[in-house]
Amino acid sequence: MKKLFGTFGVRRIANKQLTPEFASRLSAAFGSLTDGKIAVGGDTRTSTPMIKHAVIASLLSTGCDVVDLGILPTPTVQYAVRKYYDAGVIITASHNPPQYNGIKFVDEHGIGIKEELEEKIEKIFFEEKAERVPWDRIGSTTKNRKIIREYIDEIIKRVDADIIREANFTVVVDCGSGAGSYTTPYLLRELGCEVLSLNCQPDGFFPGRDPEPTPKNLKNLMDIVKVSKADLGIAHDGDADRMVAVDEKGRFADFDKLLTLIAKEKGGKIITTVDASISLDECLKEVGGEVIRTKVGDVHVAEALIKEGGTFGGEPSGTWLHPEFSLSPDGIFSALKLVEIVSKEGPLSRLLDEIPSYYNIRDKIPCPDTKKDNVMEKVKQQLPKQFTEKIQIDNIDGVRISLEDGSWVLIRPSGTEPYIRVRIEAKKEKTAKKLHNMSRSFLEKII
Ligand code: MG
Repeated sequence: MKKLFGTFGVRRIANKQLTPEFASRLSAAFGSLTDGKIAVGGDTRTSTPMIKHAVIASLLSTGCDVVDLGILPTPTVQYAVRKYYDAGVIITASHNPPQYNGIKFVDEHGIGIKEELEEKIEKIFFEEKAERVPWDRIGSTTKNRKIIREYIDEIIKRVDADIIREANFTVVVDCGSGAGSYTTPYLLRELGCEVLSLNCQPDGFFPGRDPEPTPKNLKNLMDIVKVSKADLGIAHDGDADRMVAVDEKGRFADFDKLLTLIAKEKGGKIITTVDASISLDECLKEVGGEVIRTKVGDVHVAEALIKEGGTFGGEPSGTWLHPEFSLSPDGIFSALKLVEIVSKEGPLSRLLDEIPSYYNIRDKIPCPDTKKDNVMEKVKQQLPKQFTEKIQIDNIDGVRISLEDGSWVLIRPSGTEPYIRVRIEAKKEKTAKKLHNMSRSFLEKII
């Protein structure tokens, strides 16, 4: 059982739990298990330089060489690692509030390290058995200031630059004062878009909005897109591995629709998670594509992309993976791909409206972490009769019940909070409500 690592590395309140000492001990454990040249980069948080220096000192003490990449989006650090280095450390708390920070270790492919390695790191951490090298083998540091330019050029090579230039779009970009500020506005400007930048001044206090790009936090973006008559709006989370969009009418683009829109464009084998809408399957059928579902989490999507030879992977949380460029979520590349699609076929509002949407209910029912396993066991064994007749059940992640008419219920324990999550999708509102009531009373009974 892991004690430090969550789904996205280690994330804590900076200088409370995540102190320089903690960062140093954790990185020394990682450095003891890794050799070669390690890239270190981080987001715009006030605590990032403090943690970064602790991380670098520790890595050097274990004999690793370090390339200090400075402040960069997570996908840009991952790009640098997969191209040039043996591993990476990313200092970011992604979409969490400003007081948080985190440490994420990535392997030579720029992908989050495997659970086995996390467990080994924890063992060294708790036993305080980091391997410090003698004085004549301590690592050295260098910088690589060219990486942003190179990353931008590599993205431009992979989109239809002529079509984007011809479209002559106005795009409002809201980076939330996060690390995307260094990339997305410049990229779009180079491709001839008129860019109206909103919260694109890097600032660890996140004065304009919270780092999480939710509809509630993006009211300004939605208003400005509409008032300025822009063609679309783009927003990122704090480290720009996520991308969300706003159509030219100022409406926040539904994640399932955005997923379907990009997936339709790509065709072939699409990898998504158990919580994605069935409208994706229906739209993909029309273009001769196929949908494969995995557990929730971008690492699982990446694994399936490799195994199945997928063309695109996405989660309905604003996380998009384009294997022709990267096997990690890249919000910046995704933004450019979306602008390309809208340039070819837009407007965005019409493209989204053409995708069917069904009745969705998302709910969470309180359940202490210690009871989650037991409750999920009961879910599997004691499903109500209405659920068990003429249905298909899969246990890819939690329990997903698909009914004959296409509606489905997903019951899964939250990975980060003391809740059991329920998601329901149905073609009729009445069915959705009925399934919701049934699931709720069933869960309340067994918790
Ligand atoms: Mg993120």
